[in-house]
Amino acid sequence: MAAGSLFDVKNFSRLSQMAKRWQLIFSLMLVLSFVFPSTAYSRVSKSHSAIKRTTTKMVTRTTTRTRKVATTKSTRAKTKKIATRKRTAKKRPVRVASRFMWYAPINTSPLNPAVSARLGANFRRGLASRYSPQDLVRAGVFTHSPLRGGIRPRSQQISHLIIHSTETASPADARTVVKSWNHGLSHPGTQYIVDRDGRIHQTVDPKYATIHVNERRTLGGVTNDNSIGIEIVRAGSQKYTQVQLASLVQLVDYVQERYGIRNIYGHGQIQPSTRTDPVAFNWNLFSRNLATIRSATTQTAYKESLDEQG
Ligand SMILES: [Zn+2]
Repeated sequence: MAAGSLFDVKNFSRLSQMAKRWQLIFSLMLVLSFVFPSTAYSRVSKSHSAIKRTTTKMVTRTTTRTRKVATTKSTRAKTKKIATRKRTAKKRPVRVASRFMWYAPINTSPLNPAVSARLGANFRRGLASRYSPQDLVRAGVFTHSPLRGGIRPRSQQISHLIIHSTETASPADARTVVKSWNHGLSHPGTQYIVDRDGRIHQTVDPKYATIHVNERRTLGGVTNDNSIGIEIVRAGSQKYTQVQLASLVQLVDYVQERYGIRNIYGHGQIQPSTRTDPVAFNWNLFSRNLATIRSATTQTAYKESLDEQG
């Protein structure tokens, strides 16, 4: 074994002395650590919890802000939605389904025959404007062919009279035409239909509006609420009958007088982009006949006033 090697006796005693010294240092440190608890550690710990708190605060703040932003965004979106809905609601024409009625109230019980005859005679002479549409139904001057749905209270004063022709695919009488309209709560229809046998059908009292023009396409401010519609029954190459035209003139005269209407139009005149009815209608003949009944009315009224004066 070589001299000065790690395991000789001299070295061994030196090593044991060093170990003893280190043992002393360690035990001293141990005692000191008990007497003075580690301030350094507590400081680190404290600062760590502070960081933790700050982070939590920051996270909370960020979350709140995010939530706030989200809420603001969703609120803004909601407000936008409502505004859009309001705008579309404004743009849409005032045609609310709930305003439509299935039936309009009417008393159809017949008047006594003498009264009915007098009302009928006055109607044909153009002297019936003081009688209500209901009275004329009760006198049998108008035939009650009720609309089921497609009726609504008027939102405007009556100022126009629109004449149509039914133009069905195949010949159909007034009752069949009304039946063909009566589907659902809001459907087309006119207040009157003049059949080929000269019979005048009233579907509803003209104090109610019906849908007989397309308000988005009409000229001259004609709406369903400010107009009364009269259909003349006609199809294909049919000509209007004499009795039909005579009844039409009497009806137009009555409606004009009763409601103070000055404007009479054909559907095609006020809705030229999509309608041409009344088809093959002789406006000159109609105007002449209307003037005749009007002058007769005026003459009769003049005579009656003379009679009253004695
Ligand atoms: Zn029409």
